[in-house]
Amino acid sequence: IASTMSEQPLLIRNILEHAMRSHPRKQVISRDGAGIVRFTYVQFAARVAKLAHALRKLGIGPGDRVASFAWNGHRHLELYYAVPMIGAVLHTVNIRLFPDQAAYVLDHAGDRAVFVDASLVKALKPAIALDPHADRAFVVMGEGTEPLEGAHDYETLLAGEPETFAWPELDERAAAILCYTSATTGDPKGVLYSHRSTYLHALAIGLTDSLAVRERDRLLPIVPLFHVNAWGTPFVAPMVGADFVMPMERLDPAGVIELCESERVTMSAGVPTVWMGVRDALQASGKRLSTVERIVIGGAAMPKSLLDDLAALGIKAVHAWGMTEMSPVGTVASDTSLLDHDPELQRNERYKQGKFSPIVEWRVVDEHGRDVPADGKARGELLVRGYAIARSYYNNDEANATAFEPDGWFHTGDVVTVDEYGYMEIVDRVKDFIKSGGEWISSVEVENLLMGHPGVKEAAVFGISHPRWQERPVAAVVLREGYEEDEEAIRTWMLERLAKWQTPDRIMFIDAIPRTGVGKFLKRDLRSRYGELFNE
Ligand code: ADP
Repeated sequence: IASTMSEQPLLIRNILEHAMRSHPRKQVISRDGAGIVRFTYVQFAARVAKLAHALRKLGIGPGDRVASFAWNGHRHLELYYAVPMIGAVLHTVNIRLFPDQAAYVLDHAGDRAVFVDASLVKALKPAIALDPHADRAFVVMGEGTEPLEGAHDYETLLAGEPETFAWPELDERAAAILCYTSATTGDPKGVLYSHRSTYLHALAIGLTDSLAVRERDRLLPIVPLFHVNAWGTPFVAPMVGADFVMPMERLDPAGVIELCESERVTMSAGVPTVWMGVRDALQASGKRLSTVERIVIGGAAMPKSLLDDLAALGIKAVHAWGMTEMSPVGTVASDTSLLDHDPELQRNERYKQGKFSPIVEWRVVDEHGRDVPADGKARGELLVRGYAIARSYYNNDEANATAFEPDGWFHTGDVVTVDEYGYMEIVDRVKDFIKSGGEWISSVEVENLLMGHPGVKEAAVFGISHPRWQERPVAAVVLREGYEEDEEAIRTWMLERLAKWQTPDRIMFIDAIPRTGVGKFLKRDLRSRYGELFNE
């Protein structure tokens, strides 16, 4: 029989209206030019309404795609609400894509308008030059020096518009936000989030054993808004009434530290590289972050040494794993009741990627599709399915055919173990495993060890073809300041800790490890750079 409960749709608008009414004095805070601007959620919602009117005047209607090319700032956040709330779709373009990739996603998404930060106009221009469509509207946000011909000015569009809007009733399944994967392999693939999936994901990451965002938090997402919606933070913050602090382009360690201190940030989130930089700066200066309690680290494997170093600086690092296809948070490694029974075991568990979100259904399967045991040892590919997980890519039959099973299971491409307490650990990406003489080597395991060497700042381990062993591991290493390039010394150190067949045959010293637009190692580049090493 039918229940007697409401079937009210789960909409992004509900999140903002809740923040306005229940947390009216809590704030959205952003760097803007040389200064800081602040809006209460009530003032912020008024700007969202003005933007909605402006969007309508630009001719944006239900289902239309609107691109953003922007830093984490208040205007970008206004787009996050206004665009979906009028029934249109916000396409958050990664500002670090190569021009041909940016032109590809603008074209694939069919964006009607592009909102660009003034300081990014120069970076966008090469993509516009490659863009075959001349009919997109451009809107420039904030003050800058680089002109963009024919573009509207954001504040001029908003000026004089009403502070309320008659929001349309929407279906919770309607598309709200479009995000393309970061393309470590092939063309970027689009994932179209719905109002419903966005709402449910925000609820789930708010949970105490997930990101545990609270009303008393002042949350600073360093992870970009274009990197899977800054991991859901723009929605969970207003939902729980946390203050939301945004850094704009100041992502350097000194800028992050300064903002954490001046805005009394309690919680932050970002990829490992950012926190390595902050760690190094704090270690060098002997200073501490006086209000930051915890930071969420994900997007790429967190080196164990980073968790330990941050703990020594009084900061709790919480490891999390996710994917664009998952909205993105899949697992979080928080403290559980293990902390009471076995603190040492708990410490080791927190190095892993963590326990699954309740909105994620998961399986770990071998190459024949059979489930492997959750004993912490058996490896297999992780498949997922759930309320905030993609069922297909946007307009991409080719990728859909291989990534999704007919019953909805999505192939993550990650090889993992799950232990008896439910903690998942990533062993490697399927594509990054190194096959040497019939044995598999996990590049992640070797990297983790290398990054524990006192002289090693960063290390990427990858396989290259070898006439005798099929593939052999080699490492690209960035040294900390003051250390000498001594390949033999590092290899000897490794051989004391790792089997010989797993130890990289060569160590190359480089200035920086090539990365994707969201900061992940681009091993594809390394493999092609050093591919002929053993064949020469
Ligand atoms: P993103 O979701 O970060 O934009 P992708 O969807 O392209 O990028 O990449 C997701 C992949 O990133 C995961 O499948 C996994 O391989 C890797 N990843 C994310 N978080 C972690 C983590 N904490 N540890 C190891 N790998 C991670």
